[in-house]
Amino acid sequence: MLEAVGISKTFRSGWGTRPYKALEDVSLHVGGGEILGLMGPSGCGKSTLARILLRLLPCDQGEVLYGNENISKLKGRGLLPFRREVQLISQRPESFFNPSIKLGDSLVEPLRIFGIYEKASSQELLLHSLEQVKLNAQLLDRYPHQVSGGEIQRLSLCRALLLQPKVLVLDEPTSMLDISVQAQILNILKEIQKDRRLSYLFISHDRDVVRWMCDRVVLMRNGRMEI
Ligand code: ADP
Ligand code: MG
Repeated sequence: MLEAVGISKTFRSGWGTRPYKALEDVSLHVGGGEILGLMGPSGCGKSTLARILLRLLPCDQGEVLYGNENISKLKGRGLLPFRREVQLISQRPESFFNPSIKLGDSLVEPLRIFGIYEKASSQELLLHSLEQVKLNAQLLDRYPHQVSGGEIQRLSLCRALLLQPKVLVLDEPTSMLDISVQAQILNILKEIQKDRRLSYLFISHDRDVVRWMCDRVVLMRNGRMEI
């Protein structure tokens, strides 16, 4: 479904510091309907790989394949299906929400961007997705600072679900939350994956969370895959 093949990435800054090799020859494959865990210590390159897989960051070497298509070759409109079907759930969900826009309007914004907003059907879709993340529609009238950390993460999940994605790249989706809220969100993520038969790349440094959540796990250390 989503595959990295021999990805390498070196960061070069304009400040005269030494280039930093963040990834070297990294490969992984998330199969259809699979939860693949990507585990490794902080700073080993997990988020860099996630950004490359989502085509938010270019790589120096290697390829990203989505459904056997090389997505680094796609441009403009050709990239739209990928942009819609592969969604990021981040460690900082508040970054998806404009602080001065009501949550309900932010939630449907991606539908407008993709030109698939249609009042009646979008409302229905929104209510269904809210139900799946176990949130009350009363939250839609609030601003981002008026909800809790667990709620804003569930809202970012709802926002992604509205686009009817096929793959979620979850980059430490619960690491900023306390244990009870974390468990609730992991349960919701599992239910949604089953219900919608999604593929997940689930990134975490927490062994217990990954064991509980994932079908299969790959390990990374110092920018390389561990065998
Ligand atoms: P992880 O998500 O596994 O904690 P990251 O992928 O965020 O790790 O970072 C891997 C390494 O690359 C870190 O040492 C980080 O400082 C470095 N890095 C990440 N982004 C940049 C950047 N834009 N410029 C320079 N170095 C970066
Ligand atoms: Mg990270």
